[in-house]
Amino acid sequence: MSKNYVIGFPRIGEQRELKKVLEEFWAKKIPFSKVQETASQLKSRHWKYQKDAGIDFISSNDFSLYDNMLDTSIMLNAIPKRFKELKDEELYFSMARGNNKNVAMEMTKWFNTNYHYIVPELSADDNYELNAKKILNEYKEAKAQGIKTKINIIGPITYLALSKRADGGDTFEFTNKIVAIYKQLLREISQLDDEVYVQIDEPAFVKDLDVKILSLIKRVYDDLASVAGNIKIIIATYFEHSNEATKILINTPIWALALDFVYGKDNLQSIQAIAQSDKILIAGVIDGRNIWKNHINQTLDLLKQIGTDLPSDRLYIGSSCSLLHVPFTLKYEDKMNVEIKNWLSYAVEKLDEISLVSKIYHEGQNSLTQQQQIQYQRNIQANDDRKTSTKIHNQDVLTRVEELTKTQRDGEYEERIKLQKEILNYKPLATTTIGSFPQTTQIREARRAFKKSEISQEEYNKIIKNYIDECVKTQEDIGLEVLVHGEPERNDMVEYFGEQLKGYGFSQNGWVQSYGSRCVKPPFIYGDISRPQPMTLSWITYAQSKTNKPMKAMLTGPVTILNWSFVRDDKARDEVAKQIALAISDEVNDLQNANIKIIQVDEAAFKEGYPLRKTNIKEYEKWAVENFKLSVSSAKKQTQIHTHMCYSEFNDIIKTIEAMDADVISIETARSGNELLKIFKEVGYKQEVGPGVYDIHSPRVPSVQEIVTQIEKLLEVLPKEQLWINPDCGLKTRKWEEVVPSLTNMVKAVQIVRQRLN
Ligand code: GLN
Ligand code: ZN
Repeated sequence: MSKNYVIGFPRIGEQRELKKVLEEFWAKKIPFSKVQETASQLKSRHWKYQKDAGIDFISSNDFSLYDNMLDTSIMLNAIPKRFKELKDEELYFSMARGNNKNVAMEMTKWFNTNYHYIVPELSADDNYELNAKKILNEYKEAKAQGIKTKINIIGPITYLALSKRADGGDTFEFTNKIVAIYKQLLREISQLDDEVYVQIDEPAFVKDLDVKILSLIKRVYDDLASVAGNIKIIIATYFEHSNEATKILINTPIWALALDFVYGKDNLQSIQAIAQSDKILIAGVIDGRNIWKNHINQTLDLLKQIGTDLPSDRLYIGSSCSLLHVPFTLKYEDKMNVEIKNWLSYAVEKLDEISLVSKIYHEGQNSLTQQQQIQYQRNIQANDDRKTSTKIHNQDVLTRVEELTKTQRDGEYEERIKLQKEILNYKPLATTTIGSFPQTTQIREARRAFKKSEISQEEYNKIIKNYIDECVKTQEDIGLEVLVHGEPERNDMVEYFGEQLKGYGFSQNGWVQSYGSRCVKPPFIYGDISRPQPMTLSWITYAQSKTNKPMKAMLTGPVTILNWSFVRDDKARDEVAKQIALAISDEVNDLQNANIKIIQVDEAAFKEGYPLRKTNIKEYEKWAVENFKLSVSSAKKQTQIHTHMCYSEFNDIIKTIEAMDADVISIETARSGNELLKIFKEVGYKQEVGPGVYDIHSPRVPSVQEIVTQIEKLLEVLPKEQLWINPDCGLKTRKWEEVVPSLTNMVKAVQIVRQRLN
């Protein structure tokens, strides 16, 4: 008996087939039936991959045309009022993407991943009603292909915890109504077969739960698990431990618990209690969030620990979470360095790992087929090779880290800012932008052609320089005071640096779904990080040579580079961040030595790296702040360091941001209704700030008056000497026709306010 289990499988398709067909449908080039056709093909292919790998528990309803939370809203008939008139696919995609009459539903990050779900909007007017079509059909579809699936659904508690109220109030007010629909669903599911497995995902249980939610667990699952005798319920949690919930769940009539032992090692504390109960434990030991080959022998050790008290027939082996968060298959990576490729494992390859580990654990090494023996030996070999590879280890970097003494810049803020103001001589309410200017088709085309060697380095440089020339001139014409070069040479703020750092790898086909049809291809850090040569210097100094105004250089910070990459698993994250920070600090030094006086180090992803559990926050904040400070430790007192973050939920972390000790920070405020400003007033803030005065996410051009009003609001909470005036975020996704009038209005608004102040 070797029971193995996959929490869920990616659905976008190994060649992003779903993306392509959706986008063609949205562009009205093909009928919806084509989308359905592709969806069916993908589902069968994905089931077959799992079946061929010998997976025992394969899911249905892990597929989605856009998002599983959205599917759940449809299942419950939780449809916001503005979409009520619509039906079927028009309804579905309008909820996800908006239509010409109504805005889309909000989208936000799924726990600490880069996957985004559609946030349910509940209200007292809702009329919940079961729509089980998709769920039942997908089960039948698989069964017709000879696969008896477990059915994946998102649990009611997580659904409610992640919803918001359109009419104000608490989403948990609807618990009874929602649970009633779930019960109805389970009743329908129970008709499908003699015995049916239902995986109910409750990742909300891995957060610090308040008593209100904790007290719901027993009631809800006593209720749901007793709907039908032929349903076996598996509760799945992931990304952290869920010990509090586990303690409760073992006393309900559910059948099994699927827990994450990769990102939730503390789940080990629940093993005893699970062993003493009658529950099956599905141990998530194959990493569903990173791309490294499993270290099979280490995993077997971990399983031994997990299985000390647990009879092996009650221990199944699975992925730590849905494989949605890793790329599809290595099959198409034909350009990757073979040595590095041999260290990796994407979703399809992970299936074999799950199967293999399970077989060895349950039946012993002797039970392996010859092919499995080979797989096992290769796994051991690959892990050994990686450990000793010269590609990974760079003694110079290690020594440098070890001997590090200067970990932050010289001088206190008060002293620095005084020097900087003397040199830079900027007025209160100084105007600037966040870095990028519109990425034109010409620029994108040039970058693509250069990468494919269709144009020479000289030709490419000329195009970029032309862009910089124009960008600088436009900013001068508008009357901006601190200029930027516009970032035309970058397609992405992490990839650009990753490509120039040693220790970084890139895939051809390592796409991971981010939301809807959108995928990202995160680079990966496999070895010690070093900077063979300057990364931004020539572009920035060129841009500075074109103007007498200060040119602000643009770098990406270590925490953001880390959070938006797949990170090596053989070194602690903070250690990796430290290496990146040192590389950035070298760049800072080169820039200031070339007479660049302002350097912005962006930390767009600082907030999203926050741990799910409060107990881990202090530690994250500590190393994140330390590494930011390290990355600018080379800056002289006279060099002004800016940073930028593009969100506004700072309320609980404002003191941490202050501790980063950047001289100036620009942040988003426009969209959040000035929530942040209250905090500045209440708790105060030491350094200079540029709260964005208009929202760049929309093509709308803000009027002068609007911006004047916004600046006046800022002046109510912070003195003019402490304020900078800038948009919310970078302008790369906007058009020049929008950017020029918007910034012109911003500059006019500042002139008006300055006059009033005089
Ligand atoms: N400097 C970057 C830009 O302007 C910052 C991007 C971001 O914050 N996401 O594009
Ligand atoms: Zn931003």
